[in-house]
Amino acid sequence: MIRVQSVRPDSIADELGIDQGTMVLTINGRPVRDSLDLVFYEADERLEIEGVEPDGSLVVYDVEKDANVTLGIVPQPDKVKRCTNACPFCFVKGNPRAGKLRPGLYIKDDDYRLSFMYGHYVTLTNLRAEDWERIVEQRLTPLFVSVHATDPAARLAMLVNPRSANIGEDLDRLAAGGIAVHAQIVLCPGINDGLILERTIHDLYARGEHILSLSVVPVGLTAFNADRGVQQLGSAECCHALEQIDAARERARQERGTAWCYASDELFLQANIEVPGMDYFDDQELMANGVGAISILRDQVRSDLGRLPRFEGRRVVLVTGSSMSQHLHELAVEIAGATGAHIETVTAINSLYGPMVTTAGLLGGEDYRRALEPYQDYDLALFSRTALNDDDLFLDDVRLDELQAEFPELQICPSEHITEVLARL
Ligand code: SF4
Repeated sequence: MIRVQSVRPDSIADELGIDQGTMVLTINGRPVRDSLDLVFYEADERLEIEGVEPDGSLVVYDVEKDANVTLGIVPQPDKVKRCTNACPFCFVKGNPRAGKLRPGLYIKDDDYRLSFMYGHYVTLTNLRAEDWERIVEQRLTPLFVSVHATDPAARLAMLVNPRSANIGEDLDRLAAGGIAVHAQIVLCPGINDGLILERTIHDLYARGEHILSLSVVPVGLTAFNADRGVQQLGSAECCHALEQIDAARERARQERGTAWCYASDELFLQANIEVPGMDYFDDQELMANGVGAISILRDQVRSDLGRLPRFEGRRVVLVTGSSMSQHLHELAVEIAGATGAHIETVTAINSLYGPMVTTAGLLGGEDYRRALEPYQDYDLALFSRTALNDDDLFLDDVRLDELQAEFPELQICPSEHITEVLARL
C-alpha cells in the first residue's frame, strides 16, 4: 500500500480528485507495495485502482489512458530497506554525531529498489526470498552491486556479515534471472587490494556480459571512522591498483571492444596521476560513483567556451572541495579568457567530516558560508548542486535561501553545468 503525498496539477489523479492522504491498495487486483509497484502497474492502459480515502471510505477508480502516461500520483517516500552489514569503513558511521546533519543521512540503507531506480550500490546481503522473486519478476535490471571482493574471506572482512560470503551464488542467481549488474569495488589496503583485487577483477570478467561494468573506488574515511581499522590507500597502492585495472581494460578492449573496468577519479587523484579524458570511460554513465566526473566537467566546459557571452569586469567565484580545486582552477583560467570576467577559484575546507574529505558534494552550508565571506562584493558565486538535496538543503540542514540572505550583493548559484549558468548571464 502507498499513501498519496500529493498529485501533480492537471494529471489523471488530479482529474479523478484523488486527495492527499488517500491510500492506494491495488491496481488491477495487484497489491501496490511501494512506489516501484506504482511505476510498474500504472504503465497499463486500463486500470482499476482500489483505494481508501482519508475519511476511511473505500473507493474504486477506472482509468483508460495511453501506456506512457502516468497517473500523476506522488507517493509518500517508501520505508527504505536497511543495511545489515557492519563495514569498518561505513560512511554513515563516519558521519559527525547525530544532530549535525539532516536526519535521513544517519540511515544505513541497502535497498535494491533504489539500486534499480537511482543507481545506488547494494550488497544483496539483506534480500529475502520475496525480494529475489520480485527482482526477477519485475526484471529490475541492471542492479548496481558492491561486490568488493569475490574471495569470501575478504568480502566478509569488508562487510562483517556472514551472508556476504555468498556473493558468487548471488551473482549466479541474478544472471539466471536475466538481471545484469554494474559492479563496484571499494578498495581498502590490506583487505581487498593486491592479489584479492586481481582475483576479483578476473572472476567478475569471467562472468561475461552479465557484469556490465566494474568501478574501482578508493575507500574514503572521515574524522569519525578513521580509527576503525581501515587505512586510506597510499599513492603507491593506488598506482598498483591502476596498473591492475589497466591490464583488465586492455584485455576487455581487445576481446569485447569496451574497457569494462574503470578507476574512479579519486583513485587517479590519490595516485597523483592525471585524470584521463572522456575516452577512458566509454559510454558508461557511472558519474554518480565518482567515475569520470572531472573529465565530463572538463569536456563540457571546453566545448561550451565558444558560446559564452563576454562579461568583462564581472567578478565570479567558483567554490569547490580540494579534490576538484586544481582542475577547476585550470578551467577558470580558460573561462576568464573566453569571457573577460575575473574568475577566482576557492577551496572550501570540510568542517563537518574533517579536512580529509575533499569532495564538494560533502561540504556543509557553513563551509560554503565561510568560503564565500571574502567574496561578498563579487557578482556571482557558483558551486556544485550535489551539495544540496531536492529541497535545497545542505547536509548540515542550512537552507540555500539562508545562505543567500547572508550575502545580499552576491548571486549564489548551485550548478550542474557551470557554463550553462554563465551562458545565461
Ligand atoms: S553496506 Fe557497509 S558502507 Fe554501506 S551502509 Fe552498510 S555498513 Fe555502511
